[in-house]
Amino acid sequence: MKMENKTICKVVQDLLPSYIEKLTSKETNEYIEKHLNECPDCQKIFENMKEELPQNNSEQANEEIKYLKKFKNKLNILKIVLLIIIAIIIVSFASKLYMLFDISSKTKELDSVNNYYAKMHEYQSNGTTIIGETYYKDDSSLTTITSYFENTNNSMKITYYKNAQTNEKFNVIELQNGQSKIENGEVVDIGKYSRRIDVKINSVNDLWNCLKDIKNISLAKCNSKNCYFIETYDGSQIYIEKETGLPVREIIRDTVADYWYDLNSVEEQIIKPQI
Ligand SMILES: [Zn+2]
Repeated sequence: MKMENKTICKVVQDLLPSYIEKLTSKETNEYIEKHLNECPDCQKIFENMKEELPQNNSEQANEEIKYLKKFKNKLNILKIVLLIIIAIIIVSFASKLYMLFDISSKTKELDSVNNYYAKMHEYQSNGTTIIGETYYKDDSSLTTITSYFENTNNSMKITYYKNAQTNEKFNVIELQNGQSKIENGEVVDIGKYSRRIDVKINSVNDLWNCLKDIKNISLAKCNSKNCYFIETYDGSQIYIEKETGLPVREIIRDTVADYWYDLNSVEEQIIKPQI
């Protein structure tokens, strides 16, 4: 029995979408192909359908693949950028730690120094200049601090003296119109005064405090010396000589102080000032 031609065409045309998408069985394929060879009408419909359906599908698929590839590339770039950022953070943190520990070990070495000459020049934005120097030997010290006040054209000199053997200590304040002496006054020492930012790490807690206070630490030159440059969160800046751990310059708000040290240079006994 033979199917009516029209019926066969209808069946074949119904099967065509599945045939194009390769969902039909081998036997069905053979049957469809045989009919397409014999029937120009169905052949034409097949050609049209083939052009519309699969191409649309594959184009869409291609677009999707392209999009996915682009997205994957973007993801890979993002991954690389993130890794680079993490690496930079780790390296900068490690170098910050290295610098802190280096300053700490030098600061600890300085604690055993019991003989030095220290000089300070301090400039304040209001025109005041302070020049100080300390001779220090075995806990005896002689410090003179002279202040020049540009506004009033006045000056003041204070001498701090301490004899560790006799335990005698006094301050002498000299103004233009005379001088006065204070017995058992305070002991000021340029060497200790200049080391207010103390980077000494003995425990995890010390390290935590340092990291908490220090905003930035880097290498820099100051007064032709190779220095560590420290910036704290309270706005202070200090240059510490890399080789010795001694302060070179300190900037606190509108005050700039420069320091010079000469370690183990005080040969004579500290001489009591004449007044
Ligand atoms: Zn047909």
